[in-house]
Amino acid sequence: MSSYNPYDNVVATIKAAAEVMGLEENDYLSLMYPERELKVNFPVRMDDGSTRMFEGFRVQHSSVRGPCKGGVRFHQNVDENEVKALAAWMTFKCAVVGIPYGGAKGGVKADPTQMSRAEVERMTRRYTAAIQPIIGPEKDIPAPDVNTSGVEMGWIMDTYSALAGHSEPGVVTGKPLEIGGSLGRPEATGRGVMITTREVLARQGKKPADVRVAVQGMGNVGSVSAKLLHALGATIVAVSDVSGGLYKADGLDVPAMVQFLSTRGNLLKDFDAPGATRISNKEVLTADVDVLIPAALENQITGQNAGQIKAKLIVEAANGPTTLEADAELAKRGIVVVPDVLANAGGVVVSYFEWVQNLQRLAWDEEEINQKLERIMVQAFNEVYKLHEAKGITLRTGAYCVAMEKLVKTQKIRGVFP
Ligand code: NAD
Repeated sequence: MSSYNPYDNVVATIKAAAEVMGLEENDYLSLMYPERELKVNFPVRMDDGSTRMFEGFRVQHSSVRGPCKGGVRFHQNVDENEVKALAAWMTFKCAVVGIPYGGAKGGVKADPTQMSRAEVERMTRRYTAAIQPIIGPEKDIPAPDVNTSGVEMGWIMDTYSALAGHSEPGVVTGKPLEIGGSLGRPEATGRGVMITTREVLARQGKKPADVRVAVQGMGNVGSVSAKLLHALGATIVAVSDVSGGLYKADGLDVPAMVQFLSTRGNLLKDFDAPGATRISNKEVLTADVDVLIPAALENQITGQNAGQIKAKLIVEAANGPTTLEADAELAKRGIVVVPDVLANAGGVVVSYFEWVQNLQRLAWDEEEINQKLERIMVQAFNEVYKLHEAKGITLRTGAYCVAMEKLVKTQKIRGVFP
């Protein structure tokens, strides 16, 4: 593993925004530290009868603007610094789009693709029990992230409810519809990516139909982003997942590919794509395209490859895909980057809608949800873009300024206890 610490990235971005805004360190000091970090070690019974210990985390970065909110990731590279950074990004994301949440994130260091589903279920339930004292509908509400989906959210909801002694749908979002999930939630992050891509292209006088797109990571977020941009007329020429990449100059068959990938365990290496060339994951990032959408993990666009990126626009569907060094290089080269905290905020917006529906014990229809999401995303995009133009700053610094203004104001009103 590299020594790259994504939390350093967070702190540097906070400082850059604070400087633009002329803030005193006192105003934003607390945002540089996570409020609460929980590390848990817990045993899981494996299918062969053995017991294996797992390491998990739940970090609550800020509850200044409301209950903490953020996904749960199962991945072999999960560590404390990654979860801390992911939690902080949630704080800024919720503030940018103006929803009343703070930021949190959780993770278990494990590769669920190498475990049986029964083992993943026992791990999810035991992890939930381990973090149960600090989560809850008024405290901290988990959601899906890398390698977790509605199925795992269902287990979290059930485990928490069993321990609480009553059914508690509002403890987690991204649930299946049958147990209080929301229409539109599985597609929400990708839909938000599509909306921000469409909006930034419009500012550049372009339409989705004018652009060739590469998507790194064809999981929940990447595949929905590709599907919705394809539906708007964009040509998706390059994609990848953990098994490798595909390139086709006149466009890949996105609906067939997304349908194939929707079966658990299916990977791109097994997708039959006539006329397409097999390329590496690295080549997807530097493919000859107009728009690059990283939708896998952090630390993908680095000082090593930023100079070779051909896209003129990068929309960060993943959290933290660009290192600080790469960010500076991209800005120097005039490549526009729509930052993660704005581009992928659609997921937490509809998670918020799900939670509101759970608390009120009612369900909205999908049209209403998508309309509300569209309005919030476009409004946040416009706010960030205005600042970017007015102050001549990157969209990332602009997004952090918009978020920090709300966070600092709320902190001032609340004051410091005691
Ligand atoms: P996922 O598990 O559904 O998909 C991840 C995808 O990335 C898979 O296709 C996997 O094969 C691929 N991948 C993994 N390692 C890779 C590599 N080295 N190169 C290329 N591809 C690789 O996860 P997801 O929920 O789609 O999350 C993707 C990103 O979006 C993460 O950064 C996550 O934090 C972020 N995000 C997710 C949500 C959400 O609602 N799920 C919301 C906001 C942000």
